Amino acid sequence: MLLAWLLATALTPQSLWAAWPAQRVLNEPAPCLRPAALADALRLLAERHPRATRLEQVGQSVEGRPIFLLSVGRGSRHVLLWSQMHGDEPSATPALLDLVAWLLASDAPAAQRVLDELTLLIVPMLNPDGAERYERRNSQGIDINRDALALATPEGRVLKALRERFEPLLGFNLHDQDRRTTVGTTDQRASIALLAVAGDPAGTLTPGRMRAKRACAALVSALGAFVPAAIARYDEDWSERAFGDNLTRWGTPVVLIESGAPPAGRFEDLTRLNFVGLATVLVQLAQDDLTAHDPALYDNLPRNSNGRWADVLVANGQILHAPTATAQRSDLAFQTPVPDRVDAGCAAPDDAPRAPIVEVGDARLLVAGRRLDARGALLVPPFLMGLRGWQAEALVDAPTLAAWGRLGVGRLRWLVAPGQVTRAQARARALAAPGRPHLEITQAAAQLPPVTLARRPSRPRSARLSDVLEALLGGTASARLGSSPALQALSTLAGGPLAPRAPSLGESAAFLLVRPRDDAKRLEAAALETFELEATWLHGHEQAGPR
Ligand SMILES: [Zn+2]
Repeated sequence: MLLAWLLATALTPQSLWAAWPAQRVLNEPAPCLRPAALADALRLLAERHPRATRLEQVGQSVEGRPIFLLSVGRGSRHVLLWSQMHGDEPSATPALLDLVAWLLASDAPAAQRVLDELTLLIVPMLNPDGAERYERRNSQGIDINRDALALATPEGRVLKALRERFEPLLGFNLHDQDRRTTVGTTDQRASIALLAVAGDPAGTLTPGRMRAKRACAALVSALGAFVPAAIARYDEDWSERAFGDNLTRWGTPVVLIESGAPPAGRFEDLTRLNFVGLATVLVQLAQDDLTAHDPALYDNLPRNSNGRWADVLVANGQILHAPTATAQRSDLAFQTPVPDRVDAGCAAPDDAPRAPIVEVGDARLLVAGRRLDARGALLVPPFLMGLRGWQAEALVDAPTLAAWGRLGVGRLRWLVAPGQVTRAQARARALAAPGRPHLEITQAAAQLPPVTLARRPSRPRSARLSDVLEALLGGTASARLGSSPALQALSTLAGGPLAPRAPSLGESAAFLLVRPRDDAKRLEAAALETFELEATWLHGHEQAGPR
């Protein structure tokens, strides 16, 4: 009994963290939550607690989806919490429901005090149209968070009306930020960024803003145990059109919570951090108006840093410039974006993934999710090869494409007669998938690359380029390599008449990593015979090696 009593009353961030799984109202990861499912969950929650909650539709989106206000508590001090005004920033939305479920179920005196002292005004998913499509803006194409003054969006008008109706003493504006944002000068990505929003361009420290800073300090204390080096301070610049800034100016100081990189890759833990943080700060707000918290804890947070993170950094390699058959030392950094809904398991991967290059040259200032040491290796454009005529159709299937991809083929240009174009295009679309060579259809014989594929690939004897080419092309491969210098030969192989340019900023990264086995220092001098295909990267996807 004593233990149960202690568990019920010893309210710590750790106990909230541990209690959260059983407290969850919605079990799917936040990116997967659709407005209809949220509406059902809200109605169910309100029906279960008819006396303790009030569910009110306070407006509707441009497309007519309801926007709900869920109110709990009977206190005179009003706190407004809203999430997902950017439709693709969902992490806090389920946490708001979990927070209500916990408050209503908990025996802890601290939870009861929250309900006695405060009235929580909760708007989960202010932008349901954007959330349905997982887009930032509403269906007028307007960023609701830049609409505080113009009020052209029905969603923005809902928020403004709630502020005027309830005059909350504190607001929580709940977002997700770029998941590649890093903390200060560290190598750590931010899981949470906080801002005590300014209410004027000078950032005047009013009593309200002081409360917001104390709330941020309380959040740092609560969450530090779970993401110790992953809390940052959001940019403080005054944003003239934004809601947080204007709500603060109108008299409701706002705390911005931005969820960022999921700890250990689990989206659920971003929701969990929001739950633990909000529960803790509300308990302390009810208890003593947060006066125990030193705003310095917030003021001293390292700042958010943008643009320092690359998903993949291929360091110290040499990049082949195919047209000139020269190579230059260069790093290559690129992103391998995976949409949240794909990452969270509720959407299919994109057929045509892109891996935008963010640096070519000296990338030493970047922090990388994955770092490949390419010292002594050469980055070569993937092979562009041809398929001739509709008879090649027998070769064009998923396993063969995958095998070609493993052997370094990045693009396949398929020459067909005019009458076959539609069918060939349909086949190309059906077979498009991450990591497979891209199939391009052409009717112009002049567009056919010099090297064409006429058979299924065999299994290469080794990773040597000569064996790889033999597996692709048959016994003629060695003859094609000839006795020309290595770079010249690679350049010919890689490019053909439509030589790809060297990788450049913003393009999608696709390359082969090749390395002379016996002469790591002098690429030019090494015999092409000794070059091995180490890896094939097609638009962010690394293929299994050639063997
Ligand atoms: Zn946002």
